[in-house]
Amino acid sequence: MMKREMQCIQCGWCCRQYRGYHWAKVPDLLRWYDEGRRDILRSVAAGRNPDGCLRSAADLGEAELAAMEPATSWTDPVTGEPLEACPFLVDARDGRFLCGIHPTKPAVCRETNTWEWGFGRFGPWGCPVSPP
Ligand code: SF4
Ligand code: SF4
Repeated sequence: MMKREMQCIQCGWCCRQYRGYHWAKVPDLLRWYDEGRRDILRSVAAGRNPDGCLRSAADLGEAELAAMEPATSWTDPVTGEPLEACPFLVDARDGRFLCGIHPTKPAVCRETNTWEWGFGRFGPWGCPVSPP
């Protein structure tokens, strides 16, 4: 089947619908480590220290990051609770919503063409520019 190229209108629907559930996988974690992006790694939970204190991926070294399971959601760096929405989505206040970490966003965000999911198959998870 021929792949359809669609124009994303930056409505932010997909980022808001998927909420925190954008998996950060090991290559994402290691890239953020290399780039010094502690601000991103802070939003990836990494269990607790032996003293019970919350730990985030920003507290881990390269070897520990390489051994992490994919993160299943973004988490609040203070409470460790899963976030309802991606913390990096920015309201441009002109009708668009933009990714605040676009150059280094997780692979799942970079590689998912939401319009290919279609309204028919995924109902409210669809994208306004996806073909009917
Ligand atoms: S829902 Fe579709 S049009 Fe809206 S931001 Fe996502 S990919 Fe772009
Ligand atoms: S990281 Fe960027 S593309 Fe991915 S959900 Fe957040 S705002 Fe959207």
